[in-house]
Amino acid sequence: MKIQILGSGGGEGYPALFCGCVRCNAARKAKGKSLRSLSQTLIDGELLIDLPADTHMHCMRQGLNLGDIAHCLITHTHSDHYAPQILDTRGEDFAHNLRAEKLNIYGNAEVAKKFNGTFNIFPIRKGIKDNIAIHKLTVFKTYSIGRYKVTPIKAHHAPEEEPFNYIIDDGESVLLYLVDTGYPFPETFDFIISYGKKYDFVIMDSTMGRGYYERHMCFSENKKLKEELLKAGAADEATAFTVTHITHNHAGLHEEIEEYFKDSGITVAYDGMVIEK
Ligand SMILES: [Zn+2]
Ligand SMILES: [Zn+2]
Ligand SMILES: [Zn+2]
Repeated sequence: MKIQILGSGGGEGYPALFCGCVRCNAARKAKGKSLRSLSQTLIDGELLIDLPADTHMHCMRQGLNLGDIAHCLITHTHSDHYAPQILDTRGEDFAHNLRAEKLNIYGNAEVAKKFNGTFNIFPIRKGIKDNIAIHKLTVFKTYSIGRYKVTPIKAHHAPEEEPFNYIIDDGESVLLYLVDTGYPFPETFDFIISYGKKYDFVIMDSTMGRGYYERHMCFSENKKLKEELLKAGAADEATAFTVTHITHNHAGLHEEIEEYFKDSGITVAYDGMVIEK
């Protein structure tokens, strides 16, 4: 499985669009790995996770053609994860030779609601709309999506909707994708363990840095979760642990975060990072 972290930032990106704080100014100066765009991940060039406004920039940067992709999982409808208005150029005069004729979008009930809410007010061309199918998933149920087994699990986040994290299994490798979420609910943790396979990759929300908030994880919880997964036998020394979705209010430049996680066996994501085995 090849995992590309297209965007590693928290909800406001880093530097934040409208922010003049010391940390944001430092990132504007440092550039490189300290520039964190909105959260998005691509599996094997074929399964996309989330669709933020930065999708266009991610595709330009990585040389991707989104017309090749038939399947997109949405974690939840916060705008740093799902901006359906960008789909209005998927076809007709704007996009030619689509390798994936249809785009299938999967998520909770709010995903269709935000899509319809957007395009009922600002209409999308019928031919473009007809090639986008939205599928509502049920938590803790396993689906065949492309060549993957995908299981949405309950995230500890955004209680006004039913946010998802995902287990993505290609038959050889398994990814546990925990973005956005606080420390997993006991029922989610139990499900993660009972899935019955060792995770090859664990990608964790690290929004809160040195702070704390129950609906996002912080650095110390990332370390704790790693230990708990190892203890439960759901991970081992071969498991690649990565933190992402790092906001700027509780953490600074990339190197400072790496310094915190050194010797922990946890890698700090950056835009364009590839994790593969
Ligand atoms: Zn987010
Ligand atoms: Zn700032
Ligand atoms: Zn969110």
